[in-house]
Amino acid sequence: MPSYPPRDMSESERRRRAAARARRKRQVARNRLIFCAVCLVLIATVGFGVFKLVGVLTDGKENSGASGQSTSQTTSSSGSASTSSSEPASEPASEPASSGETVTPATDGDWRLTLVNNNVALPEDWQITTKVAEASTQKELADEAADAYMQMKQAAAVDGVELLLCSGYRTVEYQQNLFDQEKQKWLDQGMSEEEAYDKAKTVVAVPGYSEHNSGLAADIVTPDHQTLDSAFANTDAAKWLFEHAPEYGFILRYPEDKQAITGIIYEPWHYRYVGVENAKAITESGKCLEEYLDGLSA
Ligand SMILES: [Zn+2]
Repeated sequence: MPSYPPRDMSESERRRRAAARARRKRQVARNRLIFCAVCLVLIATVGFGVFKLVGVLTDGKENSGASGQSTSQTTSSSGSASTSSSEPASEPASEPASSGETVTPATDGDWRLTLVNNNVALPEDWQITTKVAEASTQKELADEAADAYMQMKQAAAVDGVELLLCSGYRTVEYQQNLFDQEKQKWLDQGMSEEEAYDKAKTVVAVPGYSEHNSGLAADIVTPDHQTLDSAFANTDAAKWLFEHAPEYGFILRYPEDKQAITGIIYEPWHYRYVGVENAKAITESGKCLEEYLDGLSA
């Protein structure tokens, strides 16, 4: 019956079995210890992992919160930055508005050198008085430019050339009214001032970007050739103007070789009053008005 030790089991056998039991106990205890240690390590690892995970999640939340904050900050600080996706569209649109103030080229304080082109608007505080410079067409120019034109016309007549002012000062008022009406439509729909301006600009041309708005630009032709085309350059009137206009304070504003700079095609009829001294200096320099003003500010 091997299920229990026989009564006559020897002392040495009992000791051996006791030792074996003790060894098993120690083994179990050691195993428990190892198990606990492994458990602790596991708990620590998992705990650390969870801690890290929570940390990442929390960071993510903070980041998104922070970016949300910064977005709202830019929104509140400047309306234009509120929709970064529409920036390319709004940027060029807002350019002319700011360039009128910031990109004021050097004019040596001479109002007659004021630049007006596709990118630079007539100054908002522009104030001139005009008068009729050509009786037959009733076209007007700024007073000083009108006087200069009339002198030039007389001088040309002495040389047997007849000049005709076919376009001079053009009011921006009518265009401004149209523009304001268009802008108001978008303001009424809840757009900001800037957004409404940009929107209106896509429909109505911005007033003030034509040199004719300044009262200093004159489209000069001759009765025999009143069409505004490049063929006008071949007329006696055009040739006379090329040679003598600067003596009366007028420059050829859009020369054939300056189209890339002026952004305007060759217009042999379009003259710009800048005053005699300026006209002579600019003509001698071979520069167009943009280049000349750049030189002054450099
Ligand atoms: Zn013109």
